[in-house]
Amino acid sequence: MEFRDLKKQYQVLKSDIDAAVQGCCTNAQFIGGAPVKELEKALAEYVGVKHCITCANGTDALSLAAMAWGIGEGDAVFVPDFTYFASGEIVSFEGATPIFVDVCKDTYNIDPEKLEKAIIKAKNEGKYKLKAVVAVDLFGLPADFDAIKAICKKYDLLLLEDGAQGFGGRYKGKTACSFGDISTTSFFPAKPLGCYGDGGAVFTDNDEWADLIRSYAVHGKGSSKYDNVRVGVNSRLDTIQAALLSVKFDAFKNYELEDINKAAAKYTELFTAAGAQQKGLVLPTVKDGFYSSWAQYTVQLPEGADRDKIQSEMKAQGIPTMIYYIKPMHCQGAFAGTDSAVADCDVTDNICGSVLSLPLDPYKSDEDIKLVVDSLIKLI
Ligand SMILES: *Cc1c(COP(=O)(O)O)cnc(C)c1O
Repeated sequence: MEFRDLKKQYQVLKSDIDAAVQGCCTNAQFIGGAPVKELEKALAEYVGVKHCITCANGTDALSLAAMAWGIGEGDAVFVPDFTYFASGEIVSFEGATPIFVDVCKDTYNIDPEKLEKAIIKAKNEGKYKLKAVVAVDLFGLPADFDAIKAICKKYDLLLLEDGAQGFGGRYKGKTACSFGDISTTSFFPAKPLGCYGDGGAVFTDNDEWADLIRSYAVHGKGSSKYDNVRVGVNSRLDTIQAALLSVKFDAFKNYELEDINKAAAKYTELFTAAGAQQKGLVLPTVKDGFYSSWAQYTVQLPEGADRDKIQSEMKAQGIPTMIYYIKPMHCQGAFAGTDSAVADCDVTDNICGSVLSLPLDPYKSDEDIKLVVDSLIKLI
């Protein structure tokens, strides 16, 4: 069994993907052009924002947002302690300081109450200028944006939605990547909407930031690529990636998002029927008003379970599993000795030792899922 079956997906979409790639080769169009423009237009429309700017990857998308806001030395940005490294890395890369905030035990997303506490604490200490909050839509589930937006407004902070795993998710009728002042996503192959290499996108309604991001992404261009008005980076989405993403985006909208939700619901149904919760297994929860794009189906193993042993026994049965994430952000060596290493994050400390992500994609059959459930149930 594949953890996320991209081979199966390719077999289903092969003729259209091959034609899209062939088209770029035939036209010898590899940078920019109509496929990129059309994809940006379609993505912006789907998300419901004015601007979509594609770029080289999801990490660059976050960095470009930080550049547009002029985040740098002396600034602090609040980041969840339980996330992929890039969410906090980009803050340090710009010379600013990430302050890590604990997450909710049930949603894995930044805890609004603890966020406010961290803001008040940092404000009282007065060491940094408080600039922004990064809210991650972890495992596909949008963060608690009503509460987070209210806090950002109260303390005059910018909101950056890291939707690298959240593309396609929804909250109260709004689509993921529309909640931040700037929002970003990643097209890394294993993300909900993935390409065949690296890719990313930035979303915003703000004209001025959109212009700045388009400039920063192409060497700080002014009126042309050879008129450079600021120092930027080279961060573009390849034409081939854009062309095949358009094919994958149609499949995503037409059935993949719905099918992955069905597959996740099947996991929950079978685990519940097998009495998994009584055995202490914690299943993912999607609260009222939320819709997940299921980048991962992540469970918490019962207290005392031997995760390494469970993983290796499942692997022996041909079932791959992953640990997202094994280490709290504030414990990463990259932040050792900095203010970012000091964080009060009990929930993250705890769940890092018990989470386990199970194989999931829109092409998994009920039989595949039953196999995984039966296997795990016997091991706990
Ligand atoms: C994958 C990911 C990123 C980075 O995306 P890349 O395209 O790999 O650079 C950022 N944040 C989160 C939460 C991610 O999962």
